[in-house]
Amino acid sequence: MKVAVFSTKSYDRQFLETANTEHHHELVFFEPRLTPATATLASGFPVVCVFINDQITAETLQTLAANGTQLLALRSAGFNHVDLQAATELGIRVVRVPAYSPYAVAEHAVGLILMLNRKLYRAYNRVRDDNFALDGLLGFDIHGCTVGVVGTGKIGQCFAQIMGGFGCRLVGYDVYPNPACLALGMEYRELPDLLANADIISLHCPLLPATYHLINSDTIAQMKPGVMLINTSRGGLVDTRAVIQGIKTGTIGYFGTDVYEEEADLFFEDLSDQVIQDETFQLLQSFSNVVITAHQAFFTRNAVAEIAKVTLNNITDFEQGRSCSNEVKAEEKVVHASGSH
Ligand code: NAD
Repeated sequence: MKVAVFSTKSYDRQFLETANTEHHHELVFFEPRLTPATATLASGFPVVCVFINDQITAETLQTLAANGTQLLALRSAGFNHVDLQAATELGIRVVRVPAYSPYAVAEHAVGLILMLNRKLYRAYNRVRDDNFALDGLLGFDIHGCTVGVVGTGKIGQCFAQIMGGFGCRLVGYDVYPNPACLALGMEYRELPDLLANADIISLHCPLLPATYHLINSDTIAQMKPGVMLINTSRGGLVDTRAVIQGIKTGTIGYFGTDVYEEEADLFFEDLSDQVIQDETFQLLQSFSNVVITAHQAFFTRNAVAEIAKVTLNNITDFEQGRSCSNEVKAEEKVVHASGSH
């Protein structure tokens, strides 16, 4: 099938072309994001393939539908950026990649914890500068800490397993407790209880109306002073200004994040020769106890290869008229517990 691939980076092209040797679709790669303004690029393409920061609004979908698009293939698990109602009304089906590598994201969350605790970013630069002093690098034993896992699905479970290996006490909060996490010894608590007891809090729930700004000034006030907060899930889970305030007062002792609520204007691009206009982001960056990565938690060769494989399988299912278990229906937006990458 003719597939218009938007938001293409070199690695998308490489992995999709490799996976396509088994499918033989006609892939045409576009670097721009899919927006209402770029949607006409997909004229005549029955399939459009998109990533997380594409703007799949009703307006975009209307242009796609008018120009012959029938299938939207998401290279992501999350579909919170898609107007599913509009897609249904316009007869455009939507498929996604529900899971590709929970290990990739969970391991990155652990990487942020180690980076912040042992100040590896500072240590690396110091040694390169022949500065071998240890002042300012003091960390703490992760062994024995209480780790709060908010959202104990596929990624939260992997994360809990790793932290259990460190010798941490595991406390979880989820609307549906996960038996595998209970088997790891996790104790489920209400959110205020988790916040009050955790030394490290890691967010692994989807962004939904119910979880938007889950971390705000009220919930930060319930946290242990000096807590470490990790977000590898979705920027919108965290009220960034409230986190900045929490860092200033010392309630938040460390903040590691792979996502940012306004990341669509920043992440995935080289902006190193530009003046960043987002003052909140710049302020956040300025703190020495903050580490930000640019939505790279998913970015392992295993995960990217799996995303390409499942995306092309989904398209082939559609081409051959088979039902696809990865199809997203409009009603799932509220019911399904995924708003993820
Ligand atoms: P999952 O669906 O397996 O697990 C999500 C869990 O969150 C479920 O157990 C669900 O019951 C729970 N949940 C739903 N609503 C909740 C609420 N209101 N409060 C607490 N828990 C709630 O999803 P997953 O594969 O583990 O992915 C988790 C998140 O990770 C995704 O939603 C996505 O935002 C993020 N993610 C980030 C990256 C990245 O590169 N940074 C990559 C993949 C996924």
